[in-house]
Amino acid sequence: MIQIKDLHKSYHMGSNSLHVLKGINFDVKEGELVSIMGSSGSGKSTLLNILGMLDEADSGSYVLDGVPIKNLNEKIAAQYRNKFLGFIFQSFNLINYKSALDNVAMPLFYQGMKRKERVERAEHYLEKVGLADWSHHLPSELSGGQKQRVAVARALASDPKVLLADEPTGALDSVTSHEVMDLIQGINDEGKTILIVTHENDIAQMTKRIVQLKDGVIIDDSPVKQVRAKEYV
Ligand code: ADP
Ligand code: MG
Repeated sequence: MIQIKDLHKSYHMGSNSLHVLKGINFDVKEGELVSIMGSSGSGKSTLLNILGMLDEADSGSYVLDGVPIKNLNEKIAAQYRNKFLGFIFQSFNLINYKSALDNVAMPLFYQGMKRKERVERAEHYLEKVGLADWSHHLPSELSGGQKQRVAVARALASDPKVLLADEPTGALDSVTSHEVMDLIQGINDEGKTILIVTHENDIAQMTKRIVQLKDGVIIDDSPVKQVRAKEYV
């Protein structure tokens, strides 16, 4: 599903530059549940943003579901992003003045879906994340865990090939984190390919493979005997 080879990325600030990714290689197969781990500042978000086509590498190659991701114009890039990728962020990134339902349905509007189908899909995915009774509530009326569930429903609604989550439990307490990981494990059980960035080892243990980043390179890439989040909840 994902193949990256010798990926490099530097940031330039005035006369200073920071070489963040120094030759990253890895492949992700369809149906994997992978965590990218590393201390703060190790380049996890930089890598995930490149995988999510929110940013571009300086060199190296990236192939997503057989499509080379390089030198795409913004319109094509946006189309691929919509078609291939779903995003989940630490800070949920919901629209505060829109209901849970509208938050989930809105991205579908930009894919040209008719209103009736948008609403049906949004209701389906809100039910899937356990929020059927909350669809008309505003984000401010929801708990942190519920907000992240809305974000998961939104990410799933366009049926992306890959789900990318940057510290999805970073703003949640331990019990709620495990509930969200239980949801993510369930989605992976149904076959979705998922990549999670985290700096928390107990969260990484709930994935099936841990890729460790340090000083711009991968220092370890190993399968884990997945811990089921439900055991903790
Ligand atoms: P992580 O997600 O692992 O905490 P990041 O990928 O966010 O790490 O950042 C890696 C390094 O790159 C950090 O030193 C950070 O300060 C720097 N960095 C990240 N984004 C930018 C940017 N847009 N401009 C300049 N430096 C950046
Ligand atoms: Mg980060």
